[in-house]
Amino acid sequence: MSMETTAWTQLHSVMNAQRETRPLARATLRRIAGFARPHRRRIVRFVLLSVATALLAVATPVLAGRVVDAIVSGGDRGTVVRLALLIAGIAIAEAALGMVGRLLSATLGEGLILDLRTAVFDHVQRMPVAFFTRTRTGALVSRLNNDVIGAQRAFSNTLSGVVGNVVTLLLTLVVMVALSWQITLLALVLLPVFVVPARRMGSRMAKLQREAAELNAAMGTRMTERFSAPGATLVKLFGRPGAESAEFAARADRVRDIGVRTAMAQTAFITALTLVSALALALVYGLGGWFALGGSLEPGAVVSLALLLTRLYAPLTSLAGARVEVMSALVSFERVFEVLDLRPLIEEKPDARAVPEGPVSVEFTDVRFAYPSADKVSLASLEEVAALDTRGGTEVLRGISFRAEPGRTVALVGSSGAGKSTIASLLPRLYDTDEGTVRIGGVDVRDLSAESMRETLGMVTQDGHLFHESVRANLLLARHDADEDDLWDVLRRARLDDLVRSLPDGLDTVVGERGYRLSGGERQRMTIARLLLARQRVVVLDEATAHLDNTSEAAVQEALAEALEGRTAVVIAHRLSTVRSADLILVVEAGRIVERGTHEDLLAADGRYAELYRTQFQKQGRSGPSAVIPREAGEPTRL
Ligand code: ADP
Repeated sequence: MSMETTAWTQLHSVMNAQRETRPLARATLRRIAGFARPHRRRIVRFVLLSVATALLAVATPVLAGRVVDAIVSGGDRGTVVRLALLIAGIAIAEAALGMVGRLLSATLGEGLILDLRTAVFDHVQRMPVAFFTRTRTGALVSRLNNDVIGAQRAFSNTLSGVVGNVVTLLLTLVVMVALSWQITLLALVLLPVFVVPARRMGSRMAKLQREAAELNAAMGTRMTERFSAPGATLVKLFGRPGAESAEFAARADRVRDIGVRTAMAQTAFITALTLVSALALALVYGLGGWFALGGSLEPGAVVSLALLLTRLYAPLTSLAGARVEVMSALVSFERVFEVLDLRPLIEEKPDARAVPEGPVSVEFTDVRFAYPSADKVSLASLEEVAALDTRGGTEVLRGISFRAEPGRTVALVGSSGAGKSTIASLLPRLYDTDEGTVRIGGVDVRDLSAESMRETLGMVTQDGHLFHESVRANLLLARHDADEDDLWDVLRRARLDDLVRSLPDGLDTVVGERGYRLSGGERQRMTIARLLLARQRVVVLDEATAHLDNTSEAAVQEALAEALEGRTAVVIAHRLSTVRSADLILVVEAGRIVERGTHEDLLAADGRYAELYRTQFQKQGRSGPSAVIPREAGEPTRL
């Protein structure tokens, strides 16, 4: 009883879902056509080939009927042999055409995979950082793999099947009607028995397929997250492995159920179709035999009709199956298009310009900013939530104005959550302001080209991310044409040369997530080396808060001093040496600049900075790691 109820509810939800996705499917078809356009010559060739194959397919049953007639009428042996040879020739031609057809459809399908994949990769790469902070990587990777392959099936297997089968079906019907319209008509009475369940099945399969794709993606995400070193550590420390496994098993369990249901539904469907076609065959033999005995039909025609009937129901069966496959392929297309449709919040203007030459200033004018709501930057299905948060964030920056003169350093200080990192992230345009402007070299960052921005502005974050590639590749990211000498030069200046020399493969040692593990200080110096290599004129720096050991700290500071020399810098400062040497200190609280001035000015004013100095910085002055740094090293930008 309860199972029936569940089945009934599910059927209903399937039908509802189907109704909702109808208009979408039409738009999807139009877009698929867009992707198919570059391949149209191959498609035309394929259709012509399908017609030829269909012609050959109806020829054999007709010839077989002729053989029977020759036997019955006591004709000569030569005719029978000639007919048999012709049938053999047709069989060989059919085989050859089949191979060529497969080659064409595979080329089409694989070409489509290539187009879709590169389109998605290219698009995702252009998404703003906000998108990546929200999206689950596994879900995204699954779009690029599973869904793209699912979409391809529509072309290489299904569409090819549809075209070929429709042609075969029409030709077979024409020939059958010519042989005996009465028998053909009776055989076709059974046709609705195919079409109606096929339509039903199509929508049900689509729904199940969608659910399975989502579950598979969710499992993929879970695995990439949990099986990464930090993820696994977290599970070991805090997680409940039992609950984790149970949750995973529940999803895997549902995938199994869907797999079994899909398989059974398809089998039941195919079995029913086979049965109906067998019954129709009995009808042809019975009725045809009756007519033949009455003399109104040639015996050969009965054989031809029976053979043609099997050829009629075969394309019908696969057309019914094709519908199911087309539906699931459409789902995959939709999932891919969904990603492609997500417009990046931040786009380069067509007439974007370059940053002016020479040392440049950095200027914020009355900048107000709130983090964009989730629905503006992401997709519910990629975050694996039912609906995205549409609430915009509260205002994080409320009227920030300051100017960093060319070659000078501005230090941002203030309590945690005040908005310092947000200010830093507006500069490389990771986000756009809601009001006010951010200018580099006097030009609004929204008018700058992405390339010029990359050349001008460098960012050093606390954790210094490294790709799982060689030291060399990680460095070359900053400047592709750097030679061996350049690399060693920046490594020396970043105080990393001794370390890299001692690595097993030197510059070619693989570092990053799974490679040689560099310490926090070493990773930071690696990002500094990148900065030195890229020679950007503006530097945004988030000083590490993590407590580095004295040697590491000193090395980082020295390397930084070199990196900042002569550059315009905005530094989120955590060290006394930095604030003391900064040309301008901005005290940020709750999204506003509450004080500004030099270290000495602000201490004399005895306000919020003086308080911060006493609680945060002064300790370092007495005993912290910065105390070991020579003062000149911390003063890169004093003129
Ligand atoms: P600080 O760097 O001074 O510690 P942040 O700029 O990181 O401060 O944060 C300022 C405020 O913005 C905080 O209230 C924080 O919760 C919020 N915030 C930071 N990053 C995001 C984000 N990606 N999405 C939404 N809110 C954020």
